[in-house]
Amino acid sequence: MATKQLKIQFCEFIPTEIEEGTLYISMEFATASHKCACGCGQEVVTPFTPTDWKLTYDGESVSLSPSIGNWSYQCRSHYFIKNSKIVWAGNMSQKAIDAGRFHDQLNKNRHYKQHDTSMEETQNKDGRQDKPNEKRAGIFKSIARFFGF
Ligand SMILES: [Zn+2]
Repeated sequence: MATKQLKIQFCEFIPTEIEEGTLYISMEFATASHKCACGCGQEVVTPFTPTDWKLTYDGESVSLSPSIGNWSYQCRSHYFIKNSKIVWAGNMSQKAIDAGRFHDQLNKNRHYKQHDTSMEETQNKDGRQDKPNEKRAGIFKSIARFFGF
């Protein structure tokens, strides 16, 4: 069953068996864990670091940012946790398409990055170094477009 609202449980250690519909938060270890809100039973671990997730606690409810994107799970769920509520991001089909596109883009970036590096080496000999950076800026733009910025 899909989760609509998460119960919050602060604990020192995240239990090995976690209950669906509960967000377990360990401040000691700066991490949280919950079962995927779609009901598939997969455990989603969201560590708090400057580059992972940020937890906001207002004394009653918690919010996590950025969104939870379970691309590696079969359900490919994508949702936000806002004031302890599950806010779904996009509908199922669009979500699946976007996830696929995003993966494609990542693969492309990886591919072009390798390509750029080899080009950079040859271009360095010619003294031209600006092209790969330009290409990277283009990739950043397309990622930004994907996120709707
Ligand atoms: Zn799921």
